[in-house]
Amino acid sequence: MYCPKCGTDVQENVQYCNVCGEKLPLQQQYGGDGGYYPPAPERNGKSVAALVLGIISTVTCCLGCVSLPCGIVGLVLGVLGFKENTGSNKTLAVVGIVLCGLALLAAVVSSILLFAMPSILPWGDIFEDILWEMGIY
Ligand SMILES: [Zn+2]
Repeated sequence: MYCPKCGTDVQENVQYCNVCGEKLPLQQQYGGDGGYYPPAPERNGKSVAALVLGIISTVTCCLGCVSLPCGIVGLVLGVLGFKENTGSNKTLAVVGIVLCGLALLAAVVSSILLFAMPSILPWGDIFEDILWEMGIY
């Protein structure tokens, strides 16, 4: 940048001009001269969404029809959030990914168990009855 008083080319981060001693304006980057724009605000929406979906998916992991879609969407958003964010938002995205991954695993396992051996699960009897009614068993 240049000193507004004497026009000397001075370093960006000094407070006073080293030639005339003029106090230099702080951070001219936001002004209209340099074409510099502040970095885009952190996009943490996807990370938060991934985390929320991960929690929903974990809580509902016994209900595959809720857990699976939430888990898959959460996983995708988590990966996007991980790529787009830094710092704490990245951590948030990782937690979301882990939660969604675990929930998906749990949902898949519980779905397999439900079909393979319905009696092993507490609500298996009801499910078995439904299958029986539908003529599957
Ligand atoms: Zn100066």
